[in-house]
Amino acid sequence: MYERATHGDVSRAGATLTVDLGALVENYRILKTKLRPGVRCAAVLKADAYGLGVRRVAPALAAVGCVDFFVAHVDEGLLARKCLPASASIYILNGLPQGAEADAEAAALTPVLNSVKQVEAWSDCAAKRKRRLQAILQFDTGMSRFGLSPKEAYCLLASKVWRSHIELCCVMTHFACADEPSHPENLKQLMSFQALARQFGDVPTSLANSSGIFLDSVFHGDLVRPGAALYGINPVPLESNPMRPVAQLSARVVQTRIINPGDGVGYGLEFRPERPFRLATLSIGYADGISRALGNRGTVYFRGNPLPIVGRLSMDSMVIGLSDAVADAINDGSYVDLIGPDQSLDHFARSVGTIGYEVLAGLGPRIERIYRYD
Ligand SMILES: *Cc1c(COP(=O)(O)O)cnc(C)c1O
Repeated sequence: MYERATHGDVSRAGATLTVDLGALVENYRILKTKLRPGVRCAAVLKADAYGLGVRRVAPALAAVGCVDFFVAHVDEGLLARKCLPASASIYILNGLPQGAEADAEAAALTPVLNSVKQVEAWSDCAAKRKRRLQAILQFDTGMSRFGLSPKEAYCLLASKVWRSHIELCCVMTHFACADEPSHPENLKQLMSFQALARQFGDVPTSLANSSGIFLDSVFHGDLVRPGAALYGINPVPLESNPMRPVAQLSARVVQTRIINPGDGVGYGLEFRPERPFRLATLSIGYADGISRALGNRGTVYFRGNPLPIVGRLSMDSMVIGLSDAVADAINDGSYVDLIGPDQSLDHFARSVGTIGYEVLAGLGPRIERIYRYD
């Protein structure tokens, strides 16, 4: 079953991102098989569910039993709240900016508190409302990005005021090197986390992202937080991908032409073939989040046939070379795949020198999202 979801008209779209919701929920189940009984599996929905569309991704995961969801920003939380059952827990990873507490409380969003100041502000909000509010407390155990330093955590322990206003539903940390299983920092972070967590009593713990789930179960804690693996990105880069692909990115052919020896292609005329050359222009460019670094370097696919990107990418278009094998089959209105059965998301990302996360999160709003569930 196919269903259109966003604003545009698929028949006019320059490019489509087909999201396989069946594969998404299968990935959720695969991740759950890695967990000891009783360990909860959340889903990370930040950045519009890594570009795939939170409006459809969130309900699909809720329907298979996911009840804990993480986003980065308050406004992402407010949107997620509209897409999810009222019973879902929604956590704000980046914490609350000063002044956002009331909105977060009104929508029953749970902040991840990353600093003493944030703890105080949330505690004040609870005092005003005359009710205890839930929160996650994050410790920085080595990544130097979010969370309380061990020293700040001990200061917080010494102050008792916040305790009567805040109910900790979790203490958490985040691994810097979970995708490198033998990296010594993983165990170091675990040890310093456990030492801190113990001080806070019998509170559930949350440590692992997608890659962390594939480490030993001592790294899991009570609530794991996968994002990437749900969306088909390989959580174990040193091994073959255990996840099912979720996203297929296809671009429409606008026109085809044959150029003569000596003719150039695109800005700067960087590509000049020495023989007559067949070309197709695709309706996708760097404004859609496709890196300009793919000029003269990347490959797209048509029914198993690799086709080179030739010349520089433009804002709204790019040009590919057509081999004899496909010349008759590709016409105006044909679609070629940038990401699909012949080129995985991770492979495509590597060809631009980046990671699947950045490719998905960068895909622009002009790309029509199509949802498939079978
Ligand atoms: C983004 C994020 C995750 C999810 O990470 P993946 O590698 O996509 O699974 C988990 N925890 C935190 C704190 C994050 O910022």
